Amino acid sequence: MLSISNLNVSFGGVQALNLDTFELKDKELRVIIGPNGAGKSTFMDVLCGKTAPMGGDAYFNGKNLIGRSEIEIARMGIGRKFQKPSVFEGLSVFDNLLLGLKSKKGFLSSMFFKLTEEQSDKILEAAKRVNLEAELNTLAGSLSHGQKQWLEIAIVLLQDPELLLIDEPAAGMSDAETEKTGHLLYELAKDNGVIVIEHDMHFVEQIAQDKVTVLVRGEILTEGSFDEVKNNQEVIDCYLGAPDSAQTRK
Ligand code: ADP
Ligand code: MG
Repeated sequence: MLSISNLNVSFGGVQALNLDTFELKDKELRVIIGPNGAGKSTFMDVLCGKTAPMGGDAYFNGKNLIGRSEIEIARMGIGRKFQKPSVFEGLSVFDNLLLGLKSKKGFLSSMFFKLTEEQSDKILEAAKRVNLEAELNTLAGSLSHGQKQWLEIAIVLLQDPELLLIDEPAAGMSDAETEKTGHLLYELAKDNGVIVIEHDMHFVEQIAQDKVTVLVRGEILTEGSFDEVKNNQEVIDCYLGAPDSAQTRK
């Protein structure tokens, strides 16, 4: 699904990302871990067209993403959920989803269009996938932090992405919300490719059904199963062993 070579990003001469190769299979769920500043978010920025690399290729279903706009890449089937939730707090969950469904047409036209049955079914289905079907009339501003994150995931799902990029979904969530989020990602990966950046190692253990990639200083330190990565001495030295780096719950 995704095939990356020699991807290189620097900011003011400082190298943020230097990926020799990275491959993602169809419907794979990949977790990326690594210390702060390792280049994890930058990698997602490149994949969704927000940041242009200095060099390299990123093929998605055989087409190079490099040089394309964010809108073009979204239309090709890559959906990005950013770290901070940015839902419209003063609108209901339903209206947030409605805007998500129509966001391609721009904000104003999306406020004044007629809802077809097919569209309302789609909104309901997206809400169900993220456990928000009972909250459709709730103001987004009164949702819990975790529910806001799910709402954002649902908004991304409305664009029918083939590949989902999700940056630190469990940050700030309660234990119960974290567990539900793990289940949600597992379900999503049945139909979509999913790349998740995450710090919480209990959560990583819960969701890492395929490979885990460890990014350090912009480069891949190692890749493997959760157990392989957890017991890798270099990973322990660079990341897991550092007191402020990998966050574990309680
Ligand atoms: P991570 O998500 O792994 O914590 P980032 O990808 O956010 O790391 O950052 C990687 C490096 O690139 C850091 O040194 C960060 O300061 C730098 N960086 C990220 N985005 C920008 C930007 N827009 N401008 C300048 N430097 C940036
Ligand atoms: Mg980040």
